[in-house]
Amino acid sequence: MVYFVGAGAGDPELLTIKGKRLIDNADVVIYAGSLVNPEVLKDVKKDCAVYDSAGMNLEEVLDVMKAAEAEGKTTVRVHTGDSSIYGAIREQLDALDKLNIEHEVVPGVSSFLAAAAAMQKEYTLPDVTQTVILTRMEGRTPVPERESIEELAKHRATMVLFLSVGMIDELVMKLKTSYPETTPVAVVYKASWPDQKIIYGTLSDIAAKVKEAGIKKTALVTVGDFLGNEYELSKLYDKTFTHEYRQGISE
Ligand code: SAH
Repeated sequence: MVYFVGAGAGDPELLTIKGKRLIDNADVVIYAGSLVNPEVLKDVKKDCAVYDSAGMNLEEVLDVMKAAEAEGKTTVRVHTGDSSIYGAIREQLDALDKLNIEHEVVPGVSSFLAAAAAMQKEYTLPDVTQTVILTRMEGRTPVPERESIEELAKHRATMVLFLSVGMIDELVMKLKTSYPETTPVAVVYKASWPDQKIIYGTLSDIAAKVKEAGIKKTALVTVGDFLGNEYELSKLYDKTFTHEYRQGISE
């Protein structure tokens, strides 16, 4: 059996109870060393074999899983944040299917959620935006043309950009094709880690601020008026708004 576990954004306490139980009982652990906090692995069994996937290719990862399976061992593959977001999990699941190896996926706290928590912001503010776009800028890995930053920016929704802070100048230029220059932007570096940093600005000054702070990776760029202070109060808690669980106050 192979379990894919989302390790959370960094803080080891963001690991789910289920994920922690699986890691602590695993015979083999393969983790993405570049982003997974090693603290997440501090209670593994004494004889647990731990592999850092940073220096391994897909075949090598699969070979470790295959060998463990042949010995009836349990493997836990640990991904940063949640494995459904840029986790390269699909190719592993499909390969395991071909090998008839059973698998299960346990979700994790993605960095985009840890970032909102760090900022104490809500991505979906009433009357501001009700949509969150999670994306990345094209780099060495291409992005489909219809999902270019310019295309997505047209919605002026909340946008969260992974894997893009290293290209902040180009990113800002592309965003400005639809978002006004005054649009607030926050860059969250290492959300939930002890060295977390949050840089606030607007489209006109964020690039300079990010460079000044020396942030080149492990950060999210969040964009939109959700960072501002204007919004409508939520209907959900409005005393005149009735819904299934609460009758409104009638005069
Ligand atoms: N599966 C992960 C994302 C992997 S892609 C998740 O759910 O979060 C790697 C990118 O995620 C990084 O380049 C960075 O943009 C972002 N990232 C990962 N951890 C982060 C953190 N703690 N703080 C800010 N950004 C982070």
